[in-house]
Amino acid sequence: MKSFKPLYVFLLLALTAIVACQTSPTGRKQLIVVPDSQMNQLGAASFAEMKKGNPPLSDSALLDYVMCISHPLLIAAGEQPGGWEIQVFEDDSPNAFALPGRKIGIHTGMIELAKTSGQLAAVIGHEIGHVQAKHGSERVSLGMTSQAVQQVAAIVVDGTEYGAATMAALGLGAQFGVLLPYSRTHESEADFIGLEIMARAGFDPSHAVGLWQGMAKLGGQKPPEFMSTHPANQTRINDLNSHMGHAKSLYRKSQQQPDCKKPS
Ligand SMILES: [Zn+2]
Repeated sequence: MKSFKPLYVFLLLALTAIVACQTSPTGRKQLIVVPDSQMNQLGAASFAEMKKGNPPLSDSALLDYVMCISHPLLIAAGEQPGGWEIQVFEDDSPNAFALPGRKIGIHTGMIELAKTSGQLAAVIGHEIGHVQAKHGSERVSLGMTSQAVQQVAAIVVDGTEYGAATMAALGLGAQFGVLLPYSRTHESEADFIGLEIMARAGFDPSHAVGLWQGMAKLGGQKPPEFMSTHPANQTRINDLNSHMGHAKSLYRKSQQQPDCKKPS
C-alpha cells in the first residue's frame, strides 16, 4: 500500500495543525501530534514484549517495597494507583524506565543502588514525571518531523504497527530493553515533577540529591545504564538544589511519612 503513504503524511500534517499546542505540567509548550490512545497502546504493547523477554518479579519482598513507595507517590501526583503498572525486573544494571500508558519498570540493580526509600522515591517520582509530561509522545512527535514520518504514520493509521524509529523515539532502541537517553529538557522536567511528587508524598526531597550523588560516584569505565540514559552531573544536582526550598516546604506540609523498609 505504498502509494497511500503521501496521503497519510498529509493527514498527519493536518492533524499536527489541530493538536500541536499542548502544555506540559511545568508550563512548557509541547508539540504532540500522536493521540494519547495510540501512545498508550504503543507503550502497553512495548511493555508486554519486554515482560515476555524478562518476566518481572511476582510475589516478592522487593515488589512490595516498590509498591509501598509507589502508592503514596501516585496519590500525591493526582493519579489513580490502580491505573498504573509498576514492575520490578531482575537486572543488575541500575536502571528504571517509563512508557506511555502508565507503565514503569524498575531494575533490581536500581533498588540495590538506591540506599533509602527516599532515594527510590526520587527514581519512581522521576519516572512518573516522564509519563505525566508525555515525554514519549513528544519524542515520537518530534520523530514525525524527521525521516521517521513514514514509520510513525503506520501507528497513527491502524494503531498496531510500529517501526524501529518509533521504538527509538520511546527510548527503547532498535531492540527491546535498550534504553536511549532523554533530552536534557525532558530530564530536568521529570526531575522537577518527581521532586514535588516525592515531597508531597512525605519523602524527604533531599534524598533525590543523594541518589544522583551516589550515581555520579559509580562512574568507572563503564557507567551504569541509568547514568548514560539519565546523565548524573553537577548541573543536575544544582538544578535540584535550586528547587529544594520549594520542595522542602511541600514536604513539611505533607501529612504522612510512608514507612517503607528496604528488604535486606
Ligand atoms: Zn529520565
